[in-house]
Amino acid sequence: MNHRARKRFGQNFLQDLSIIERMLAAMRLERDDPVVEVGPGLGALTLPLLERLDRLAVVEIDRDLIQLLEARNLDGLTIHNGDVMKFDFNALAAELAGSAPTEHSLRVVGNLPYNIGTPLLIQLLDCHEQIRDVHVMLQKEVVDRLHADPGTRAFGRLSVLMQSVFEVTPLFTVPPESFDPAPKVQSAVVRLKPRTDAPDKAFLAALQACTRIAFASKRKTLRNNFKGYLDEAALENLQINPQARAETLNLEAFYRIAKQLGDVQA
Ligand code: SAM
Repeated sequence: MNHRARKRFGQNFLQDLSIIERMLAAMRLERDDPVVEVGPGLGALTLPLLERLDRLAVVEIDRDLIQLLEARNLDGLTIHNGDVMKFDFNALAAELAGSAPTEHSLRVVGNLPYNIGTPLLIQLLDCHEQIRDVHVMLQKEVVDRLHADPGTRAFGRLSVLMQSVFEVTPLFTVPPESFDPAPKVQSAVVRLKPRTDAPDKAFLAALQACTRIAFASKRKTLRNNFKGYLDEAALENLQINPQARAETLNLEAFYRIAKQLGDVQA
C-alpha cells in the first residue's frame, strides 16, 4: 500500500507475520470480546484481529491512514479518528459492552508509537477498572522498566505505578527487522492485567504524588527529595531510611509513604 511512514506519528509498520501471530495467540481471543486497537496503521494487526472478532474499535490519528482503512469497508470495524491521548476509554468500554457495561471488560491491543508509549500507559492507570487486559508492543527499554525490580537500574516511577495497578508480564522481544521502516531499538510485547488489589482512585493519586516527589531527582536521597513534605523523623517512623534513594524502595514502602502523604499537590 502506498503510504510514506510518518516519523512524528511513530509509524513503524509490522511486517513479520510470525510476530503478529504470536501477539494474537497471546490474547486468546473470543469472538465477542470488546477490543480496541491503538494505532491500526496499515492494518497489520487490524485485519487478523477482525478475522477472529465480531467487532473491533480502532483509534488512529493519521487521516491518510484512516482514509485507507475506510476504503476497505471492513465489516465490524469502528474507526475513531483522533489522538488516543485524548480518548475516553471508559466511554468506549461502555459502548462496546452495549446496554450493560461490566467492569474489566475492555481489551486493549496495539503496536504503540514510541513517542506516546509511556504517557499512554500512565493514562491507562486511570481507567484500569474498565480494562480486562492490555497487549502492546513497546520499546524494549520501556518494557524493562515496567517489570523492573527495586534496586535495579530500570526501576523507577513507571515501575512503581504500573506494578501497583497491573500484573506485568513481558511476553517476547521483537527485533527491528520486523518493522518497516526498522526502528533503531529493540521492541517487546507486554501483557498488563489489572490487579485484584489495585489501589482506588484516591490512593492512586497519592501514589502518583508520592512517586513524583520520591523520584524528582534520582541522585538525591529520599530525605532531600521529600524536603518540605516529610521530614527525616517521619520517614524513619515509616521504617524508611532517609539516606536511601527512591529506586531501592519496594512497593510496600511507597504505599506507606503515600498513605502518610495523602494527595498532596506535588
Ligand atoms: N498497527 C500498525 C502496525 O503494527 O503496523 C501501525 C503501528 S505504528 C508503530 C503506530 C500507529 O499509531 C500509526 O498508525 C500511527 O499513525 C498511530 N498513532 C501515532 N500517534 C497516535 C496517537 N496519538 N493517537 C492515535 N494513533 C496514533
